[in-house]
Amino acid sequence: MADALPVCLLDGAFVPAGEARVSPFDRGFLFGDGVYEVVPCYGGKPFRLEAHLDRLQSGLAALAIPNPHSRARWTGLVQQLVAVNGGGDLGLYLEVTRGAGSGRDFLPRAGMQPTVFGFCWRLAASGSGQPERGLACVTLDDIRWLRCDIKSIALLGSVLLRMEAGRRGADEAILLRDGRLAEGSSSSVFVARRGRVATPPANHERLPGITRQVVGDVLATLGLPLDVRDVHREELHAADEIWIASSTREALPVTRLDGRAVGTGRPGPLWRRVFDAFQALKRRETA
Ligand code: PMP
Repeated sequence: MADALPVCLLDGAFVPAGEARVSPFDRGFLFGDGVYEVVPCYGGKPFRLEAHLDRLQSGLAALAIPNPHSRARWTGLVQQLVAVNGGGDLGLYLEVTRGAGSGRDFLPRAGMQPTVFGFCWRLAASGSGQPERGLACVTLDDIRWLRCDIKSIALLGSVLLRMEAGRRGADEAILLRDGRLAEGSSSSVFVARRGRVATPPANHERLPGITRQVVGDVLATLGLPLDVRDVHREELHAADEIWIASSTREALPVTRLDGRAVGTGRPGPLWRRVFDAFQALKRRETA
């Protein structure tokens, strides 16, 4: 990931990234008590912003943190943050924590003022190298908690898993719970076999990925069915194609899994159709 662009958002103000400060008593710092979003922006326009703000709202509701901003205010802040950083193709991070207290009680006090932080960075151009090479992934047992549907800033499980994948020379960890596919350490996962694409259902074991939804829409425009169902370890290892999907990586082909080739070992024909249609859809929606 590229470095943060010069201006960030902190509690409603636009400040130089190097000067932004939050209290060490912030419950985000002490407990990981908060949620976040990553919104991709193309040509300075946020992509699927409504879906990201919906998920932010559900995460805040699950944590009983009051949403500090109206939808219109969020939209304005996002647009301003993009504009003050010069627009273009950006990743945009938003974080809301429960706010700063004066001690370390697990039970939060009522009436706290949430902390809001945002920053952005330049996205690598889609189609720049990585899709052609494909990704190497490893399967690992999911060691995370049982509310993976919440986009929590407490990401230690994911960090440890991503580190383990790195130690094994892989780009991403594909996580299994009891032999069933959960998701990637920071991505949704699709498998294709004999022309049919499958991804596991949205539940507490995985994040309802916005890009997962985009890939679903892309498949629909291509007239390709998507099976939403459990996917077992054996199916991953027998897949013709595997893709991972996330807001900053769009949909990328996995060409090696656990040291073996996936399908032919090259990005597959279905992925290529999805990739092209994805580019067309994102251009349409951010025109
Ligand atoms: N699952 C996890 C665990 C993630 O961290 C992410 C991306 N941060 C995703 C799935 C993909 O979500 P999205 O498409 O909304 O970026």
